[in-house]
Amino acid sequence: MLAGRAKVNTMTDPKARAVIALDSQVLVLNRLWQPVNTCTARRAVTLVFLGHAHIVHRDEEKNYSTHDAYSWLSLAQDHHRQKAQPPCLRSARHAFVVPEIIVLTLYDRLPKTEVKFTRHNVFIRDRHTCQYCDRVFDPRDLNLDHVIPRDKGGRTTWENVVASCIRCNSRKANKLPHEARMFPRTEPRAPRWRPFHSSMRHQEARPSWLDFIEVSDGTVEISA
Ligand SMILES: [Zn+2]
Repeated sequence: MLAGRAKVNTMTDPKARAVIALDSQVLVLNRLWQPVNTCTARRAVTLVFLGHAHIVHRDEEKNYSTHDAYSWLSLAQDHHRQKAQPPCLRSARHAFVVPEIIVLTLYDRLPKTEVKFTRHNVFIRDRHTCQYCDRVFDPRDLNLDHVIPRDKGGRTTWENVVASCIRCNSRKANKLPHEARMFPRTEPRAPRWRPFHSSMRHQEARPSWLDFIEVSDGTVEISA
């Protein structure tokens, strides 16, 4: 399958282009225009045709408009007339421009603002930076450090746990910050963002999404 695919010129083969376009990621906003997820264009198009979502279009003047399937089809015809060539799905009669952002028409649950406390999310919050020596590390070279050690009553919470490199972690051991003279660079707090599709590389975020999401350090985040 893969070998077969490799022989296809994806730039010129319309079927191959359509498959790639359908696998591209679409940003999903709730009714309050807050990002809640991403999905494939395939799923987004289905939601639009079912009437569960509208497509969000940003024109060159950065004006937003929303479209149902029919108004989006006519917009695609305009693009076609203007010889613009965004990724399109074509049938014999229609061109359907692959959406980049959709807004749900039914789903209005607020995105959860509470971030799950996990090792991975602590590292994201601390930007993979040891909170004692201020250097950036690969996740496998980072530990979780209890600012107030557990044996001195420190809890495993956002407010008491920071990313620490192995060296600083063992230097601090079970001492209190003032005993070790080691203080976190940033006061640890529960993050206000929800890690958003954290496996997504920032290259995968579309320029059109940047009004809705923040991209930093290779991860994509939502501002709360
Ligand atoms: Zn360190």
